[in-house]
Amino acid sequence: MKIITLHCDYIKFKPLKKAIKNPEELKNDKEQEIDNPLVVLIAVEQGDNDKSIKEMVEAVEKTAKDVKAKNIVLYPYAHLSSNLAPPDTALGYLTEAQYALEGKKFNVVRAPFGYYKEFELKVKGHPLSELSKEFKGDVEIIKGMPKEIKGEVVHDSSQLLKEMSRSKLDTSKLKDNDHRILGQKMDLFSFNESSPGSVFWHPKGMVIFNELINFSREIQSEAGYTEVSTPQLFDNKLWKISGHWDHYKSNLFVTAYEGKESALKPMNCPGHMLLFRTKTRSYKDLPLRFSEYGSLHRMELSGTLNGLFRVIRMHQDDTHIFCSFEQLESEIEGIFKLIKKIYKDTFNLDYRIELSTRPDKFMGKKEDWDKAEIMLEKVMKKLKIVYKINKGDGAFYGPKIDIHIKDSLDRSWQCGTIQLDMQLPTRFQLEYTGEDNKAHTPLVLHRAIFGSLERFIGILLEHLNGNLPLWLSPVQIKMINFTDRNIKSAEKVLNDIKKELPFVRIESDFRGTTINDKIRDAEMQRIPYIIVIGDKEEEKGTLAVRARGQKPVFGVSFDKFIGEFREKIEARG
Ligand SMILES: [Zn+2]
Repeated sequence: MKIITLHCDYIKFKPLKKAIKNPEELKNDKEQEIDNPLVVLIAVEQGDNDKSIKEMVEAVEKTAKDVKAKNIVLYPYAHLSSNLAPPDTALGYLTEAQYALEGKKFNVVRAPFGYYKEFELKVKGHPLSELSKEFKGDVEIIKGMPKEIKGEVVHDSSQLLKEMSRSKLDTSKLKDNDHRILGQKMDLFSFNESSPGSVFWHPKGMVIFNELINFSREIQSEAGYTEVSTPQLFDNKLWKISGHWDHYKSNLFVTAYEGKESALKPMNCPGHMLLFRTKTRSYKDLPLRFSEYGSLHRMELSGTLNGLFRVIRMHQDDTHIFCSFEQLESEIEGIFKLIKKIYKDTFNLDYRIELSTRPDKFMGKKEDWDKAEIMLEKVMKKLKIVYKINKGDGAFYGPKIDIHIKDSLDRSWQCGTIQLDMQLPTRFQLEYTGEDNKAHTPLVLHRAIFGSLERFIGILLEHLNGNLPLWLSPVQIKMINFTDRNIKSAEKVLNDIKKELPFVRIESDFRGTTINDKIRDAEMQRIPYIIVIGDKEEEKGTLAVRARGQKPVFGVSFDKFIGEFREKIEARG
């Protein structure tokens, strides 16, 4: 709210004509003259609230007393602001100010709202005769902020909605195989300004996300992992114990619950430490492998966010293994087996390994570090793994093995990581009873293979130019009719396929457009199989099958297609 107060000898004003569509009702259309007034020119702005009104009234009262004015003229004056409140709101506040000042025993005249007026005034020449002020209440003035009218909050929904648009993609600077372009073409995901760096997974994108998790669950379950789920929000005590409060606070989303400072988890580790503590553990329980796919939030500067590659809300195939020193070797061997299975056997991604050793600033005993580093090297040599040493690049709590994958564009990505932690178990005072009946502290291995699922999906999309393997494809088969005559028959084939393959993701395109249009659309969505049913297929009871990137094959028998499809899915091909 902006005002100018003018201490005048007199003011004369007269409404001339409507300035807005629905001005207030005129009680007096004659010229009015008030002697010795304090004239208050006012513009009520967006974001004004009861507090700004109160501050304004108090300031006017003070000035009026200082200049000994008994008469106050409230004069709506839109020219003071380019951020005016809607007329109803403004009139409400002006009336409120009028009542408040009348309550303080001033004679208040309010010039009519919503009219062009002519006015004449003569300002006295003393130092306090001309003052201007701005009142913001407690609220920073932002378009679309809630407006409080007599205790009621009114939100300008359409304005707010306009401000929360879907993030637009400037495709002019991006390559065709950029995952953000593929994501749009294939209808996989989007972002919205209302939640920066947080993915909206569309139904088709969610298929990829879930299939990756299903795959991870399957192989981890075989490898003896158990899945858990821990909370999103933790009291800051937890983060103080884990060290995040001191070392990582600038990346934490901090909030409060019942007056206690809390933070959204950026990692699962501390939650898993608490989970370990829920029971008395013995050496027989080890190794204990907790896996969790929950959401993590890490505060990143909005300028550094980059599609799926760098996000604020992420999910990992995160695992913490609690084990004894003796079990370390076989645990790491097990992790390397999973790494090979995922990267090489499933996605044919080459990878290289780096071992990062004790940094200058480290926690714990030097002997433990030496022992751990020797152990990690021994395991890798035994597994004939070629690795490079990054001297002094380990985490402050332990040495780590990083796995870098190479994509088809020759880019290197650090996705997987194995970190040996000798500190967190101590900080959380984790214990298990050993065979010797004494208390021991377990070691903790932090490990992720996909790393961030969001980023891994982004890498896969670019690496494969959207041509995801059959098992990961959101739509696996597109059923197309050659002409309208063939719709019935194509529908029948579609239903027969569904009967044979209950989990198949199949769509049909029976639009009246040309066959070439329909094939082009399906190809743009990178669909692995396009089946066309025309007169010939109808007659012979066969399929015309176009596998992605290949020439169409005619006369394929239904059973042969089903058999091949099934085989491919089972092999995660
Ligand atoms: Zn961890």
